[in-house]
Amino acid sequence: MDTVWANPSRLAALREGITRVDDRPTFPVEAPFTGERIADVPACTEADVAAAVEQAREAGAAWAARPVDERAAVLSEFHDLVLDRQDDLLDLMQLETGKTRRDAFEEVLDVASTARHYATHTDLLASERRTGAFPGLTKAVVHHHPVGVVGLISPWNYPLTLAVSDALPALLAGNGVVLKPDESTTHTALLARDLLEDAGLPPGLLQVVSGDGADLGEPLISRVDHVGFTGSTAVGREVGALAGEHLTDVSLELGGKNPLLVLDDADPDEAAAGAVRASFANAGQLCISTERLYVHTDAYDDFVDAFVRETRNLALGAGFEYGPEMGSLQSDQQLEKVVAHVDDAVERGATVLAGGRTRPDLGPYFHEPTILEDVTSEMTLSSEETFGPVVALYEVDSVEEAVERANDSPYGLNASVWTSDTARGEHVAERIECGTVNVNEGYAAAWASIDAPMGGMKDSGVGRRHGDEGLLKYTESQTVATQRGARIDPGPLPQSLWASGLTLGLRALKRVAGWLP
Ligand code: NAD
Repeated sequence: MDTVWANPSRLAALREGITRVDDRPTFPVEAPFTGERIADVPACTEADVAAAVEQAREAGAAWAARPVDERAAVLSEFHDLVLDRQDDLLDLMQLETGKTRRDAFEEVLDVASTARHYATHTDLLASERRTGAFPGLTKAVVHHHPVGVVGLISPWNYPLTLAVSDALPALLAGNGVVLKPDESTTHTALLARDLLEDAGLPPGLLQVVSGDGADLGEPLISRVDHVGFTGSTAVGREVGALAGEHLTDVSLELGGKNPLLVLDDADPDEAAAGAVRASFANAGQLCISTERLYVHTDAYDDFVDAFVRETRNLALGAGFEYGPEMGSLQSDQQLEKVVAHVDDAVERGATVLAGGRTRPDLGPYFHEPTILEDVTSEMTLSSEETFGPVVALYEVDSVEEAVERANDSPYGLNASVWTSDTARGEHVAERIECGTVNVNEGYAAAWASIDAPMGGMKDSGVGRRHGDEGLLKYTESQTVATQRGARIDPGPLPQSLWASGLTLGLRALKRVAGWLP
């Protein structure tokens, strides 16, 4: 394999950074492009997780005491290092996931942008005056303290972004972090941690443990002060239940079955080009990628012609250089699920307009980008997330029908609307029950707007990442209220007089409420 990581000693050096208190049995990790075994990674235990949380907590105390500008400087330096050393990162992400270089580069872009965003928004952590109970007499100040230790559990599909982009605000807020990346993408998380330490992060503050989520979930969730989980809705429910048991604060970024709407006035070629990227970026293994397309009758034929043509033209390939437009699926389980969904749909009468086949000539887990028509509700993929390069096309008669069918899902993660009238598109977007909706873009506009919150409605999640919410969730808000002059009790006054006085006071307050600071 033509990558700097083909040398096993480089991967072994990264694994030295895994927190473990003893030698552990290992599990194998393979490169999806070829199916070759590239490393054996230690399976951490509860004792390792306990040590990781303890060390992160210890390092966190000193880190939290440092001025926020010093903490922000680390993120700012990390931004530069990620851009400078992107080739190492791109190679490793590709090695562990089988994605194209272009898809891997989106992660570099994302992580650098997230670091810049939070490094320049330290004001969110400043203590702030709020309106006190009695204007002039009660001073109320809100402080944002770090929660302590944040536990992050992340999936394999965006191994840099999803390991790091939640860690960055958690660290800026003054916390220690323990990261449990997916078993198959541990090395990418370790390299990101090394870059953060090169950028000035104190050693010990960001701990990485490796291994099976089912084994390490409870030990982690029971010890940390906030758990951030990104992964499937099924596992998210288990994580949420455990967090509830231990009263650990939790945010959950889960699955989707994302709709894309093509309105009657959309430019068919532009919408088709956007739909190709929306559907097949990262070989469809993207929580916010499109799996259902609702196309207005007036636009249907032209759109479908262009969409099928562009999809058939996509260049598939394995390789550590820019060029291929769609890469491999990440594992045999991923390929099996995609094949099962396509076979089930075809057996029940779906029509394949593009793709539909595996491509063992390119690599063991390649599957063609696939467009299906005539998909009906009894087919598994009509409602279940495929998480692969397979989409279903539906013709609709009106915007109302498109919105209704888009909302007919237990999921509510991301949506996309295509139209030549952006004001109309924005109006339609507000009626879609998804945490993010992109107008004339598939997913990147909303994801990359890091100043705005991102997350799922319905079964797609709890809480938000990005924006102010994505930082403040890693803090404990504390109100310090100081009373001056009159106390808030009757004191020596008769209680009835005190009550009448306050009644008058409340009436007066309502009149001036809008003018108070
Ligand atoms: P997954 O839920 O199987 O695994 C995700 C992580 O959870 C891994 O680190 C895994 O080891 C760990 N895990 C597994 N069982 C666990 C348990 N019982 N307790 C604690 N942790 C456990 O998900 P996956 O298949 O790796 O990822 C694909 C899914 O993730 C898709 O549904 C996709 O939509 C979703 N996803 C969501 C987002 C988002 O931001 N909303 C982003 C990426 C992926």
